[in-house]
Amino acid sequence: MTRITAQLLAVRQRIAAAEARFARVPGSVQLLAVSKGQPLAAIRAACAAGQVRFGESYAQEALGKITALTDCAVEWHFIGPLQRNKTRSVATHFAWAHSLDRLALAERLNAQRPAELPALQVCIEVNISGEASKSGVMPAAVPALATAVAALPRLRLRGLMALPAPVSEFTAQLAAFQRLRALYDELRARGYALDTLSMGMSDDLEAAIAAGATLVRIGTAIFGERPAKAMPE
Ligand SMILES: *Cc1c(COP(=O)(O)O)cnc(C)c1O
Repeated sequence: MTRITAQLLAVRQRIAAAEARFARVPGSVQLLAVSKGQPLAAIRAACAAGQVRFGESYAQEALGKITALTDCAVEWHFIGPLQRNKTRSVATHFAWAHSLDRLALAERLNAQRPAELPALQVCIEVNISGEASKSGVMPAAVPALATAVAALPRLRLRGLMALPAPVSEFTAQLAAFQRLRALYDELRARGYALDTLSMGMSDDLEAAIAAGATLVRIGTAIFGERPAKAMPE
């Protein structure tokens, strides 16, 4: 068994254990393998071990991988900061975008999504840590953005995503994730058909699952430390 296969198995076991411990339905938490900064061989190894969903943060780096990896059946998720000049790449090459935080970007993605592809699946990124984090919309602005995004025909609003400021205590991790969960429940109560709560990374996936995550984004625990910080674009 390769190192990546073993670590992938260990992460799947952590997810299953957290589902059991926090009374979640078995199999209700999806695993997104975050491959940013990792070489093609690492993605191929995870793919060979049955992993289908992969997350990338930098459009340019991702594009090289997506075009090279036609031998693996991968569902690509864009999870990095969305920039105006990168929306076409994201609209053309990804199945999902988790980091939508402005209507202008949603409109560009909607206009640029190729007609032959299904709608781009999107999550709104929410800033649940206040000042500490710069990305994401403030919670109070989420309903208006959700309404506008839900009206775009080439996007399908699936849920909310957050990248809270890193903290080490479980209770502090849980408190942040519960704020996103509360917002998600509020939107669903208002009639938005959301089914995705994208939260939790290598160091806090248990707290995220306790708070109701339906998808965790895991890089380091599967692939090890990223070789080098990806180049800014
Ligand atoms: C890098 C990254 C992750 C994965 O983080 P790890 O700590 O390596 O598991 C998850 N989500 C986003 C948005 C990221 O940029």
